[in-house]
Amino acid sequence: MMEVEDCNNGNSSISLFDLPIESLTNIASYLRKSSRALFTVALAYDHNNVQVRDLCGIRSLHSWRKQLSAVGGERWDILDFGDLERDLARRLCDSDIEAVLLFFDAVHIRKLRLSNCTNIKGSCLEPLRGSLMLEQIDLSFAGDNNIGALPASLYILNSIVERECSSLRHIQFPDIREIVLDRTESSSEIKHFITKYNQMWKKRDNVSCSKCNTDINISGGNNIRWMNIFGIQFYTCAACTRFFCDECASEVVEDKPELGRVDMQMLAFCAHCQKNYCADCKRMNRCQVGIECDQYICCDCNYLRECSGCTFKMCGDCFNERRCDKNKAYCDFCE
Ligand SMILES: [Zn+2]
Ligand SMILES: [Zn+2]
Ligand SMILES: [Zn+2]
Ligand SMILES: [Zn+2]
Ligand SMILES: [Zn+2]
Repeated sequence: MMEVEDCNNGNSSISLFDLPIESLTNIASYLRKSSRALFTVALAYDHNNVQVRDLCGIRSLHSWRKQLSAVGGERWDILDFGDLERDLARRLCDSDIEAVLLFFDAVHIRKLRLSNCTNIKGSCLEPLRGSLMLEQIDLSFAGDNNIGALPASLYILNSIVERECSSLRHIQFPDIREIVLDRTESSSEIKHFITKYNQMWKKRDNVSCSKCNTDINISGGNNIRWMNIFGIQFYTCAACTRFFCDECASEVVEDKPELGRVDMQMLAFCAHCQKNYCADCKRMNRCQVGIECDQYICCDCNYLRECSGCTFKMCGDCFNERRCDKNKAYCDFCE
């Protein structure tokens, strides 16, 4: 192995960058895609000690990027930081994300998921400004304790929605209910954006239902809204981004008891993570507490409890409401 003079202390040592690419790609092959992206960028960033923006201009990095990022054979137009360990996601800052976006060619990115990246303030989205490729963005990093991240994100989203041929088809906002009701400046910025977003949808021709081909804009009538004022997008599955008209969305899908489904709807809204999912993408469980609640909880959200008297499931909201002693709550049928 080659020895390189370390300029800091005069000791002979090698830097990470001097390790043979085979060793690095071998390490990379054990990492999840999002971790691999961070690993690749961290090495490049560390070695070159340059500003994030200059990084991509370095020619030697191109083959490097190719080799390291090709390990899993995936495409890099989808970046999902939502699959990172929560602890790591929480520690990422804007420059980390921005570096990855720039390194993997932000103009080609189609899907970006930033859930759990609660430390970012939104400036990392700058490389996506005016993007014509971006189809889906998950901004669940913002919210109650990170309201500051919304204005910067809205600024970028506005620049995308304003483009005539934007590909945008799904935005996942965090829970912005309280901010919207607050009547602050953020609240009016959000409302303004949502109005613009709805106008963008109305202008599109032939946004057809993936099941019956109906044009959703036509079937929804003149007052159709694709997003309500609390930032919840309708008609769209948050996982596959297919569209479903009202009629097909409410269609009951065949019960599959072995999957735990009870009168499952084709497109259902998880009351906990506030996402719409289609029956092909996620299993949804309906709260079985009785007549008061029939909300769905998706299988990703760990928010279903069991009635203390039978095997019926109830959502966390109902469980907390009905909790009698320490950890017991009963459904209507057991009370
Ligand atoms: Zn339909
Ligand atoms: Zn789906
Ligand atoms: Zn959920
Ligand atoms: Zn019960
Ligand atoms: Zn419930």
